[in-house]
Amino acid sequence: MNLSHSLSVVARHLPGSPAITSTDGILSYGAFEDQVARIAGALQQHHRLPTASRVALVMDNCGAYLPALFGIWRAGLAAVPVNSKLHAKEVAWILDNAEAKLVLASEAHAAALTSLGGAQPPIIAVPSAGWRHMLAAEPVYAAPTDPEAEAWLFYTSGTTGRPKGAVLTHRNLLFCCHAYYADIDFVDARDCFVSAAPLSHGAGLYALPHILRGSHQIVLPGFDVAEVLALFGSYSRVSMFAAPTMLSRLIADGRAGATDTRGLKTLIYGGAPMYVSDLTNAIAQFGPKFFQLYGQGEAPMTISGLTKRMHADYFERRDYTRLGSAGIARTGCAFRVVDPDGCDVPIGDIGEIITKSDCVMRGYWNNSDATRRSLHQGWLWTGDLGSVDADGFLTLKDRSKDMIISGGSNIYPREIEEVLLTHPDVVECAVVSRPHADWGEEVVAYVVAKPGGAPPDASVLDALCLANIARFKRPKSYRFIGSLPKSNYGKILKTELRLMLQREIEGNNST
Ligand code: AMP
Repeated sequence: MNLSHSLSVVARHLPGSPAITSTDGILSYGAFEDQVARIAGALQQHHRLPTASRVALVMDNCGAYLPALFGIWRAGLAAVPVNSKLHAKEVAWILDNAEAKLVLASEAHAAALTSLGGAQPPIIAVPSAGWRHMLAAEPVYAAPTDPEAEAWLFYTSGTTGRPKGAVLTHRNLLFCCHAYYADIDFVDARDCFVSAAPLSHGAGLYALPHILRGSHQIVLPGFDVAEVLALFGSYSRVSMFAAPTMLSRLIADGRAGATDTRGLKTLIYGGAPMYVSDLTNAIAQFGPKFFQLYGQGEAPMTISGLTKRMHADYFERRDYTRLGSAGIARTGCAFRVVDPDGCDVPIGDIGEIITKSDCVMRGYWNNSDATRRSLHQGWLWTGDLGSVDADGFLTLKDRSKDMIISGGSNIYPREIEEVLLTHPDVVECAVVSRPHADWGEEVVAYVVAKPGGAPPDASVLDALCLANIARFKRPKSYRFIGSLPKSNYGKILKTELRLMLQREIEGNNST
């Protein structure tokens, strides 16, 4: 079934219930459904987009995001939600790769894309006269019914440095919603869900099970500790998704202890490692209201999980090993920890995590090589390393892909290296991470300058990055060295570079 069908069921049953509250005002479920139906009408009648065409959403969190997403689905089209923190050039690459036929973009992003010039799909700014015209179109109330239709092209980055679009069908997303009800919470119109993280990513995926059950969505433009804490006090049965960095900022803020947070029902965290000390502080402050998810765009947020009950039990028993694990397989999901041949490694040994379930993507859009590498032997190969214990608890050890996770955002070193290497005085470079108390990890670039020449100024390299990639990806610090450590095969040894950074940190601590 198409997800927009469930929205019409809820809207019929609860037309007056609050659906979306944002800085744009409050939308009831009846009004939400009306907007969705008209957006779908505009896509079909004004834009004449054939079934399964891709429509990109380059939008910051706002009241129009969810109506646009469901409108695309009602019209039988596929959405391409793009991280709005990306540089316009990166967004343009995704639009081209996804063969997007139309773009709905927040005003600033629409202007940035337009200023790039070149061949691009039509862009409609939200809000604008074009958007208002869409909201006045003839409504389409009948939802398509094909569960295998493409719903969401989830763009993640890859080790090649270019993003890959994981194709998620309506069946994938419905499975993700059903697993939410089975493992996290059963929700209804009394609940509310706060989206403080980008709707193009985890927060958007977790808004879905709430919308399908008529819960109230509170869409925030970003994550502001005071605002979020105030919501826990003014609403009841509040659920929210937070990247571990957001969670540590919440507990580090002195106001958390002094605020009435009884309204918080469930805080879902995941997407990056969570330090046990932060987690125990969080449980001590808010109570055992946490659910940890382990997943990835290719199996949207649904591989393993540590339930609220487990958090409560292990906190009480001070079982920090279990609290530091990523829990057990989610309902209807299987995972295994295997060697490169796909054979299970012994209990406790480290191997690659592979998973199978109805939420595993169909493949990568327009990238059959990457699809073959990720989907084989009937399983999704996650690229994550971990181990499983005798009771089925998964512990994540490392990411085999050298990916950096800073503030909950994934950063792929290759993308940054490619930009730095465009500088004429840079002959080689390697990007790694070092631990950071707030962000989890931060980016450091090792740069080898042209022999005989002076190394380029760090501020020049910074400007180069700012002109080509998203701000959050640029290195926070540079190290200029004579040569990079390499293996016998000439491969750069990033482990050595990380060790060098580690020694620096230890040296600084001991002085
Ligand atoms: P994304 O596709 O952007 O959601 O990123 C997925 C990656 O984030 C996974 O492949 C893991 O490397 C990491 N990740 C997801 N959940 C967790 C978790 N609970 N603990 C540690 N890392 C995680």
